[in-house]
Amino acid sequence: MSVSAETSDGIDDEDFATALQALDTATRDLEAAKRAIVRAKDELAVTLFLAARPYRAEGASLPLGSLRTLYWERPEVRVRDIARAFGVRLGELTELVGPRSEPGICTDCDTDTEVARRSRTHRPVARCPPCVEERRRRDRLRREHEQHEPWGGSEPGWGDSAPGWDHGEYRDAGSWSWIFADEPPVGTSPAYPPPPRP
Ligand SMILES: [Zn+2]
Repeated sequence: MSVSAETSDGIDDEDFATALQALDTATRDLEAAKRAIVRAKDELAVTLFLAARPYRAEGASLPLGSLRTLYWERPEVRVRDIARAFGVRLGELTELVGPRSEPGICTDCDTDTEVARRSRTHRPVARCPPCVEERRRRDRLRREHEQHEPWGGSEPGWGDSAPGWDHGEYRDAGSWSWIFADEPPVGTSPAYPPPPRP
């Protein structure tokens, strides 16, 4: 091979080619490991299917505690395999096992809190009770404000058609609602007189 060119990082081409080959080998190993995991999960499914046979019998009652443990504590057992082993539908299984409470960190204030997950794939945003309450309070205020302000400060296109009046400024000029009212509210700037009465 000719004199190898150095890249700006100081890695020469030959070293890089060797690294790429190592990467190919590692990727093949990874694929083989994934296939082995799938095979192992298939075996688990068969074992569970055989073990759960009595529960699939006509009129048998389901072992709810075990179902819940399998669902929440044994992620290596696939959900569809649990459902098939016990003869229930996927949606039914989620209902049967119920939600699970897990520790989490509030996204608003970083304190420790709990999250209720409804299923393995459900990943709710963690939020502590005081922050949930604070958001509700702000939503309530915003709704009240929007009811009070017919334009709500968010009229589509308003910002485009009125240069110099972005949302923030328009919201601050909330007293503009007097344009629709009979009388201007107390403290309205005299620079904006009410429209002539019909
Ligand atoms: Zn919080």
